[in-house]
Amino acid sequence: MAKLIVSKFGGTSMGDAECMLRSAEVAYRQGSSMVVVSATSGTTNDLIALGKTAESQSWSEAEKIISKIHARHVKIASDLNLPTDLLQALETLFEEMASLAKGIHLLKDCSVKAMDALMSLGERMSSVLCTEAMAQVLRKHKDAKSAKLVDARDVLRTDDAFGKAKPITKDIEALSNKHLGYLRDFKTVVVTQGYIGRTEEGMTTTLGRGGSDYSAAILAEGVSADVLEIWTDVAGIATTDPRICPKAKPIDEISFKEASELATFGAKVLHPATLLPAIRKNIPVFVGSSFDAEARGTWVRKEVTDYPLIRAMAMRKKQILVTLSTPEMLHAHGFLFQIFKIFNDHKVSIDAITTSEISVSVTLDDSTLLNKRLIADLSEIADVQVEENLTLISLIGNNINHTPGLGKQIFETIADINVRMICLGASKHNFCFLVSEDQSTETIQRLHKKFVEA
Ligand code: ASP
Ligand code: MG
Repeated sequence: MAKLIVSKFGGTSMGDAECMLRSAEVAYRQGSSMVVVSATSGTTNDLIALGKTAESQSWSEAEKIISKIHARHVKIASDLNLPTDLLQALETLFEEMASLAKGIHLLKDCSVKAMDALMSLGERMSSVLCTEAMAQVLRKHKDAKSAKLVDARDVLRTDDAFGKAKPITKDIEALSNKHLGYLRDFKTVVVTQGYIGRTEEGMTTTLGRGGSDYSAAILAEGVSADVLEIWTDVAGIATTDPRICPKAKPIDEISFKEASELATFGAKVLHPATLLPAIRKNIPVFVGSSFDAEARGTWVRKEVTDYPLIRAMAMRKKQILVTLSTPEMLHAHGFLFQIFKIFNDHKVSIDAITTSEISVSVTLDDSTLLNKRLIADLSEIADVQVEENLTLISLIGNNINHTPGLGKQIFETIADINVRMICLGASKHNFCFLVSEDQSTETIQRLHKKFVEA
């Protein structure tokens, strides 16, 4: 039986007409039924700049950015020789971009809500162009299927947390059945947008930067896809960032649990939330390069054939360590509760944590420091110490917390590097610790050599 495949292409895979045709060719060869696209490379950043400029600078400055975005898309449209209906659709989006920017300019107010509406245009424009690329590739192969542009917002229902909206899974399932039920007939290749959604009230939302992977996974879940493919500009997930270790190797296969840890703890190829929907529906995920579709890429699955102790390592820069101590914690209860309540009230997510009798240390992204109220609130219940310029190093693998001697091997390898905090025991799949930012590269290089290259 034919498989229902959802394929996502990132911004670089949408870079120009040639990239779009190459991506469409990959989708065709894979037998995809649904192609989810990012904005063309650089466009989301340009739209953000447009919103900010329209809000605070002269209209002529805003117009310069509009022209740049316009020119980029017109060039692709003319290279693809866009038919009239799609050209009209693209024109309408250009008009919407100019009107939104003008509205922001007149009000001198670019709210997150307005920004979402503006940013949604990136994906909406690229999807119009990519629909034509897909149609051309289908024609070239004399395939009877047709390419169809679908507005992802009709399906991807979210809450109203503009800027980082949360998909509402059960509505999406119902909307997918209603609007995309025909996918199982395998007569259509749907082209749609990543990153964007819509509230029940009809407002456009986005899922947060880099959210197209997540969109694709949510849509794959909605249509109960058999496979989710994430096509990017690197040939799958590597054992570590090849820019840090030239000997990093592509991983053929990795379990959902390990890949989730890897994405959360710093590997850039997948958006950290991407795997959640795939895990919920047990949909295998393939990560590959649209520029080198022959390269093997990586399969992420529930079950894999081998479970090495250390499969990969990642680092997350710009971390801070916040240590909270109070003598009142001695034999008292409720202190952790109070601390977590404060983090919860400020919607701050904690990554790693260690505790002793009278102190608790947590790692946070350094952007958290911008929230002065958080630190003030914490200071009311404990002495607060903040250390900056740290990197969280994570070793990802299997059975990590049940392997005697692993800690010794790790710390012997980096004996001369000062380790600030260690988290071991909570996860079978992750061993993480903090080092200072300037020693992070050296730490990864040595550990990669010891555990992966050896
Ligand atoms: N275009 C959006 C961004 O640049 C979403 C994505 O590419 O995943 O963040
Ligand atoms: Mg992206």
